[in-house]
Amino acid sequence: MATEPGSAPAQDQRSVLVLNSGSSSLKYQLVDVDSEQVLARGSVERIGESGSAASHTAGEQTTRSDDRVSSHGDALAILMEAFDRHGPDLDETGLVAIGHRVVHGGGHSEPQVVTEDVLEEIEALQVLAPLHNRAAAMGIRAAQAIRPDVPHVAVFDTAFFAGLPAEAATYALDREVAARHRLRRYGFHGTSHAWVSRQAAELVERPYEQLKQVVLHLGNGASASAVDGGRPVDTSMGLTPLEGLVMGTRSGDLDPAVVLTLARAGASTDEIDRLLNQRSGLLGLSGVNDFRELQQRVDAGDADARLALDVYVHRLVKYVGAYHALLGGTDLLVFTAGVGENNPALRAAVAKRLEPLGFVLDESANTAGRVVGGRVVSTPDSPVTIAVVPTNEELAIARQAVDLVG
Ligand code: ADP
Repeated sequence: MATEPGSAPAQDQRSVLVLNSGSSSLKYQLVDVDSEQVLARGSVERIGESGSAASHTAGEQTTRSDDRVSSHGDALAILMEAFDRHGPDLDETGLVAIGHRVVHGGGHSEPQVVTEDVLEEIEALQVLAPLHNRAAAMGIRAAQAIRPDVPHVAVFDTAFFAGLPAEAATYALDREVAARHRLRRYGFHGTSHAWVSRQAAELVERPYEQLKQVVLHLGNGASASAVDGGRPVDTSMGLTPLEGLVMGTRSGDLDPAVVLTLARAGASTDEIDRLLNQRSGLLGLSGVNDFRELQQRVDAGDADARLALDVYVHRLVKYVGAYHALLGGTDLLVFTAGVGENNPALRAAVAKRLEPLGFVLDESANTAGRVVGGRVVSTPDSPVTIAVVPTNEELAIARQAVDLVG
């Protein structure tokens, strides 16, 4: 049961504040780890830019402000003030830890209580994830300064994939150069892939350890993974979250010579970085990165949007087929995140192409309204079960933080 602002603390309530620090934003959720309720959520956007905007929702009440926010430290102060003014009181909800989403964790396979050493490591990984890890480190330092009394836990997006087999993690590069620059495939969205694959096993009531799964996390960022008995066999993101599927604004897979060609034509490293990460993918192909808008344009007969959708689906089908082969057959194909959970037409487009491999969608189950807890959307006799399972990275982070701090 959620505690309303100002109400008395439940006897044994335990909450975790989950912080997701982006380069210019700070998103947060206060999660009751036992009831799994979200007690409050909010965000501070456009940090360091003009037109900053903050919002905080507790219970039914949402408050907004648009004061300029110049740093992650200021954003944290605004967040804490929102809890003080509008509730809930963090201590009354039994705050036991602050969990931080950290994109790049290098070789870490487990969450870590943040010490100075861990923080320095996160900062050192900025070389590999310049935007993401610098923001995470700033967020953690600011949160530690404001709440030094609770443990801070770093949960890494790469952790689930730290155990990728060497043949999946290794780029076919000169070994000495790769080792010097730590060039390998790390994989991202790991918190989601781990959570969703486990939930999917529960949904179909089969042992996690015995299932061969392909998980498609399709949000603004998108990634696929092959999971065999709970262990990742491969994933589509690599050194950074740029590799793999077509995404909202990222290109995904390319011939590396595209980069060389642009560089030889005079583009700077930063320009190429922005092109591939922020101006490519669905946005680059069609002018919009939001899937709902893309679908509307496709329905209205827009040829660019049609091609963008076709490229997106083509890449997905290729990955699922490849993972089907790597796994030696698939038991379960799982769709998750904004697009995967909410777009039946996209699921149908992918499944239709995969039907000859035994992925048989049940049209009425696929289109039967919003998926709340998770739903099987394949026919009862489909050789591969297809499911939609909502992701919940915040709850996954909250649980891992609690498990670590006890
Ligand atoms: P991220 O967390 O990577 O920012 P999300 O998982 O929120 O992304 O997914 C964002 C994408 O999901 C957008 O392209 C959006 O159009 C799509 N999406 C979100 N909700 C819906 C919905 N109710 N119906 C259709 N598409 C949706």
